[in-house]
Amino acid sequence: MTLPSSSAQHHPALAAEDPELAALVGAEEQLQADTLRLIPSENYVSSAVLEASGTVLQNKYSEGYPGRRYYEGQQNIDPVELLAVARAKAVFGVEHANVQPYSGSPANLAVYLAFAEPGDTVMGMALPMGGHLTHGWGVSATGKWFRGVQYGVRQDTGLIDFDEVRDLALKERPKLIFCGGTALPRTIDFAAFAEIAREAGSVLVADIAHIAGLIAGGAHPSPVPHADVISTTTHKTLRGPRGAMLMSREEHAKAIDKAVFPGLQGGPHNQTTAAIAVALHEASRPSFRDYAHAVVDNAKALAEALLARGFDLVSGGTDNHLILMDLTPKDVPGKVAAKALDRAGIVVNYNTVPFDPRKPFDPSGVRIGTPSLTSRGLGTEHMATVADWIDRGVAAAGTGDEAALTKIRAEVADLMSAHPAPGLPTD
Ligand SMILES: *Cc1c(COP(=O)(O)O)cnc(C)c1O
Repeated sequence: MTLPSSSAQHHPALAAEDPELAALVGAEEQLQADTLRLIPSENYVSSAVLEASGTVLQNKYSEGYPGRRYYEGQQNIDPVELLAVARAKAVFGVEHANVQPYSGSPANLAVYLAFAEPGDTVMGMALPMGGHLTHGWGVSATGKWFRGVQYGVRQDTGLIDFDEVRDLALKERPKLIFCGGTALPRTIDFAAFAEIAREAGSVLVADIAHIAGLIAGGAHPSPVPHADVISTTTHKTLRGPRGAMLMSREEHAKAIDKAVFPGLQGGPHNQTTAAIAVALHEASRPSFRDYAHAVVDNAKALAEALLARGFDLVSGGTDNHLILMDLTPKDVPGKVAAKALDRAGIVVNYNTVPFDPRKPFDPSGVRIGTPSLTSRGLGTEHMATVADWIDRGVAAAGTGDEAALTKIRAEVADLMSAHPAPGLPTD
């Protein structure tokens, strides 16, 4: 079995200076190597992305934008950011890209700052239906400082009800309409949202945080002809560092740039900008198209295999990288299942399902996805095995059969050792 070696070998300076921290990093490397990681917002970045994000570029302050900085010594930083911007424009086919947002949540906050005033009405998908906190949900600053109104999915189909979205938009006339979310297993109809936004006089924001890699790889339709603003993280299906980007047509470039800096942030994280540039370089390759399509093929195969084992999937399946299981028919709460699967070496997250009768901290669902397993080379031929592990794990969660979970854990580690993950040390 190939295992990552000790952290001392791969991070010698860290191990010498801070053995306690180095041991934790080593343990995390081991965990990421041995487990089947199914959280749909996570991934494995390449060694190249990892190296770029750990460079001395992080020592540099560069408030402002290339050619317009408030600090000297930008001889190398400006070209790094220009490279990231040019690659973002090429990969997504947009006129403008800002690569400075620290992460997806601040990127979305910058959109509010650019296009709305405190107290304005904004519209997004309800969090328990699969939206994101930053789409105007009450506990978020975006729901406290703005008036959030929410749409959802239909109970009978699990799909977005565009009649409901249109009625709500025309009644509320929101400044912003967000589409996209965190637990949506189906293709987002950007054209339908754009038509509604036009009728309502709203700015349409496509938040593609989860599916950016699928869009870059041509495995999900692009929002580019339809959305006024595109917001994305860079660390999910796109396989870059933790960061974010805002993209738009030229007409909104100034408003977005001003909102990010000086509106919301100070100095950009240049090491992250560099790693974004590397990830976009990787995403422009033909092999990334293969990756994006393989992610979707794997998710569809896994969904079929789960349906065949009696699982109830929200919307009946998937079009993308994500599957939302409603475990009500299995009579196992989502959290109980998630914790048991974790002990079996299968890492998932418990999640609300639409119209969930249970509480958000103890919901009915489990959310899974295929970006990480695809990054380590698993294919459709492995999905029956994965579904079988989930099936046995959920059953063992119900009966409290710890021995069954231990057995699954060994089987998982065995398959994982045959498919080394990118970015992890092997020796
Ligand atoms: C992940 C995500 C975000 C937030 O990104 P962070 O980097 O965690 O702040 C925003 N919107 C959507 C739809 C997401 O999936």
